[in-house]
This record gives sequence, structure tokens and C-alpha cells, in this order.
Amino acid sequence: MEVRWQARGGTLILGGGFAGAYVARLLGKRGATIVSPENFMLYTPILPEAASGSLEPRHVVVPLRMMCPHAGLLLGRALALRTDEHAVEVETGAGRFEILYEQLVIALGAVARTLPIPGLAEHALGFKNLADAIALRNHVLRQLEAADAEVDPERVHTHLTFVFVGAGYAGVEALAELADLVRDALRYYPRLRAAPQRWVLVDAAPKILPEIPTRLGEYAARQLARRGVELRVETTLDSVDAGGAVLSGGERIETATVVWTAGVKAHPLLGEIGLPLDERGRVRVTSTLRVEGRERMWALGDCARVPNEATPDHPDPPTCQHALRQARCLTRNLTGRPKPYRYRMLGQVATLGRYRGIADVLGVPIRGFPGWFVTRTYHLYQLPLLTRKLRVVADWTTALFFRRDIAELGLLERPHRLGDG
Ligand SMILES: Cc1cc2nc3c(=O)[nH]c(=O)nc-3n(C[C@H](O)[C@H](O)[C@H](O)COP(=O)(O)OP(=O)(O)OC[C@H]3O[C@@H](n4cnc5c(N)ncnc54)[C@H](O)[C@@H]3O)c2cc1C
Repeated sequence: MEVRWQARGGTLILGGGFAGAYVARLLGKRGATIVSPENFMLYTPILPEAASGSLEPRHVVVPLRMMCPHAGLLLGRALALRTDEHAVEVETGAGRFEILYEQLVIALGAVARTLPIPGLAEHALGFKNLADAIALRNHVLRQLEAADAEVDPERVHTHLTFVFVGAGYAGVEALAELADLVRDALRYYPRLRAAPQRWVLVDAAPKILPEIPTRLGEYAARQLARRGVELRVETTLDSVDAGGAVLSGGERIETATVVWTAGVKAHPLLGEIGLPLDERGRVRVTSTLRVEGRERMWALGDCARVPNEATPDHPDPPTCQHALRQARCLTRNLTGRPKPYRYRMLGQVATLGRYRGIADVLGVPIRGFPGWFVTRTYHLYQLPLLTRKLRVVADWTTALFFRRDIAELGLLERPHRLGDG
């Protein structure tokens, strides 16, 4: 490798997601270099709203160069670690580079966890990033068009059947938002108004939203059931094909839409670069967030198993609020005498579609419209940059007064080539 660069301020951050971007932002003028395949941080809690069209997709991401004005950004991927030389090999559009660091922060997040289920990789849709959200929205709108053009009532029903596998935050919020999108869109499809829809939420666990306190989770389950969502807990997906899904127990559901949100796994690069890992493939770190047995290496966020002094019995769960708190602790430890990480969660929030939500604030359960309002207010507060907050408020305000946009922008995924005619 010929080209070698020094990380800005000596700190190299791998990953510009929630954890990495916040470390760079909090380091401020000390500077850092971020390596990230995208030039933005995705604010995942409002991603379902980008899928349903309540929010403009660009508004759920925050450009890294605006969020971290003192950090350098290398658009690319970390490929390999050379511990002895304190260098990371990075691939960018301009070629491969070696970036030298004094301190390395690993914030690579997690990747979607797929299982060897027949047909899953070929026929199911994921829901992890912005491209997934846009593709899912286009797919759902295309199902409405296909149903409208169909003469066979059974085929219509297949197009209007939607199966979500995984009842965590991502699955529940995405299903609720997309169900709202379909309900609103159907006003423009007079032929389909009386056609029955079917929404099925499948999870292997005994209850939905395991991250949320039981009573709020039960409320969410009741809300979804009241809206006609079929909840299949303690159920797994056995196979998927182009025309349907088979669940454990043998039931076959005719559908053209299976959305897979059943969890994530640690980033595969962590194992390839020889870091100490736990049984789930996450980097093992000490209480100060330093990688075990490594001097100048730190890790946080979804890619790390982070011990928390406030919850000694279990490490931090993979959430944005934990990634943010870890970023604060890690930044302090990078710049001063390292202190152990300690954070007690203040609450949790989730939306269940328009005007419905659940929140647990300091142990006080809030649900329904107040829960939805608290959830939105919290996200607005957490979203970095005033310009982003204002854009999101403008989208939400517009949605109060105007009907939902149902333009299907599938062409964005496949632009015409010059000469295609
Ligand atoms: C759909 C969805 C909804 C969610 N909803 C919620 C919610 O409502 N509330 C909540 O608290 N949490 C939610 N989460 C979880 C939350 O997003 C994560 O806990 C949080 O993003 C963790 O931050 P992170 O920085 O560790 O990982 P990420 O934010 O995933 O960032 C990892 C970064 O590393 C980059 N990267 C990957 N490979 C490389 C490489 N080789 N080189 C360099 N960079 C690389 C990625 O592109 C990404 O930018 C949700 C997650 C998803 C997927």
C-alpha cells in the first residue's frame, strides 16, 4: 500500500452511524477522520416514516459534513486492520489508502441477520437502511397497482396481503406506517375500496416489542389487533417463494410481500480483523469502552458488547439512546482520564402509525395520542441540526393538512440509460 494518510486529530472513526457520528461531533475542533460508505448519518427511529411517505427520505438523514464540521470524511469502507502499524486499510472510490491513527474508534454497527430459510434471500425485502425504506414503499405501492389491474379476486387478495417477520421496533413501526400508507392510498383506487387487506406480524418470541415494558407492549398488541393486524407470536417463517410464505405449523399465506426485520448480527469485519469478540460476534470492551487487550482501540454502539455500571447484569441493548450515551463517555475518555461507562435509561418510545404511540418516561406509561406526541417530540429533540429539525417539522405539518403523497418512484432504483430510447 503506497498512499498513507494520518487521521485528522489522530483519531480515526470507522462507521458514520449513530455512534461514530456522535463521537466525531462531540470531539469538535479536536478533529477526527470518519470512514463511512455513506456521507450521512441515518436517524433510524424515523425511517418507517420515510417508508410511508410521512417524511421526505432526505430528511431522515443528517449529512456528516454538516453534523461534524471539524471532522474529515473518507467515503469508503474499512477493509483490514494493521495493528502493529496503527493503520487501517480503506477502500474508496479513488482507490485504496492506509490511514494511520493514534486512537481508533470502531463503530461499524450491525448488519441484517438472515437465516438459511428457503427463499428468504431471493423473495423477502429487508428494512435496515434508507434504500430499503424507499424500495419497500415502492414495492407496496406497486402491489396496489397490480391489485387494481387484476381481475381474479384471489390474486387481488394476494397483492393486498403483507407479512412482516420480526416484531421489534423496526417491524412494528414499519408495519403500522405502511398500513396507514395503504389505507390512505386506497382512496385513489375505487375498485379496491371493498377489497379485504391482510396484515400479518410474525415473531418467534412470545410477545411483540420485547424492548418495551410489558404493559405498553400489550397495549401495542391490542392496538394492532384492533386495526386488523394478525399477530403470530411463537411462530417462525419456514419458507418464502414468489407467491407466498409458509409459517411454522404449516400455514401458507399467499402474498407478494414478505418483509424481514427479524434482528441484526454483528458486523462480519470485526471477526475478520481479529478483535476479541463475545459469543454474538460483538467486540468485547472494558467498562471504559476500550477494546479488551488493545491499547489505542475503542468500540461502541451495536458492534460492541458494552458493559454498563448501572445495569451490571446485562450489557447495553442496541438502541440509539445507548449509542449516544456511549459516544459521550467515549469522547470524554479519549480526551481525558478514562472513566467507566454508566447510564440508566430514562424511557422508551415508539409510534404505531399516525396519532398512536407508546412511551415510557421515567417509568410512567403514556399511550395513544399523548404517546405519539411524546415520541415525536423526543425524536425532534434528538435529531441533530436545526435545519433537519425544521425540515421534519415542515413535513409533519404538511401531513396534517394535505393528503399523503402516493407517487411510486421505482425508477429511482433503475434509472434509464442513455440510448435506451
Ligand atoms: C429500521 C430500524 C429502526 C430502528 N429503530 C430504532 C428506534 O426506534 N429506537 C432506537 O433506539 N433504536 C432503533 N434502531 C436501532 C439503532 O438504529 C441502532 O441501535 C443505532 O443505529 C446503533 O448505532 P451504530 O452507530 O452502532 O450503528 P449504525 O447506526 O448502524 O452505524 C454503523 C455505520 O457503519 C457503517 N459501516 C458499515 N460497514 C462499514 C465499513 N466496512 N467501513 C466503514 N463504515 C462501515 C454503516 O454504513 C453505518 O453508517 C433501529 C434500527 C433499524 C435498522
